[in-house]
Amino acid sequence: LVRFRGVQKTYDGETLVVRGLDLDIRRGEFLSLLGPSGSGKTTCLMMLAGFESPTAGEILLNDQPITRTPPHKRNFGMVFQNYALFPHLSIADNVAYPLTVRKVPKAQIAERVAKALAMVQLTGRDQRFPSQLSGGQQQRVALARALVFEPQLVLMDEPLGALDKQLREHMQIELKALHRQLGVTFVYVTHDQGEALTMSDRVAVFNDGEIQQLDAVDRLYETPSNRFVAGFVGDST
Ligand code: ATP
Repeated sequence: LVRFRGVQKTYDGETLVVRGLDLDIRRGEFLSLLGPSGSGKTTCLMMLAGFESPTAGEILLNDQPITRTPPHKRNFGMVFQNYALFPHLSIADNVAYPLTVRKVPKAQIAERVAKALAMVQLTGRDQRFPSQLSGGQQQRVALARALVFEPQLVLMDEPLGALDKQLREHMQIELKALHRQLGVTFVYVTHDQGEALTMSDRVAVFNDGEIQQLDAVDRLYETPSNRFVAGFVGDST
């Protein structure tokens, strides 16, 4: 679905925070970008979203270069740690927002919002405001908003980072189930080994601007490609 080809990124013209990255994202997979803080995961996600441009290299979507396509034309769903809901809009209007800006007819909007809210188990809360919901519920609204326009790719950056452990574990199970049910491609940034290994089909282990290994979860355990991967993945057990 997506290819990174020799992608590099520097913010200061000197230090490469992403060093010549090659990455294939498969249609329908749950791919996690896992690594310690500062290893370049978020920068990769931002380049995929279009908020940052690579200093060198190319990103392809369905074999077409998108390196210069602005974020809103890429049509990806996005969920971040701070939910970024509009506080003055009701839950229904928050979820409807991507459809409103795409000028979808009103009758269709109501139907699709109801469907998206049902998907994240928030039916009946649609007239509340974000401040009236718990953190986990707000994050589900953000998820419904990212899914409502049926994007082919959903990008998530530490979406559960602000939740307590119990809720986080609950949401991990829900996210995984939702991924299975929808068959949409998920790209998920986290520094939490347990989280990446529980939810993903494949994990790209980052360190210092490079992917150390990109593999299915069981292969990361069984055949880590180097000490860093073995140590980092091993920390979760
Ligand atoms: P974290 O989990 O802490 O977000 P990360 O693996 O996602 O870490 P990045 O956020 O991609 O890592 O950061 C990689 C490096 O790039 C870091 O050294 C960071 O300080 C630097 N960096 C990130 N964004 C910017 C920016 N907008 N301007 C300058 N430097 C940046």
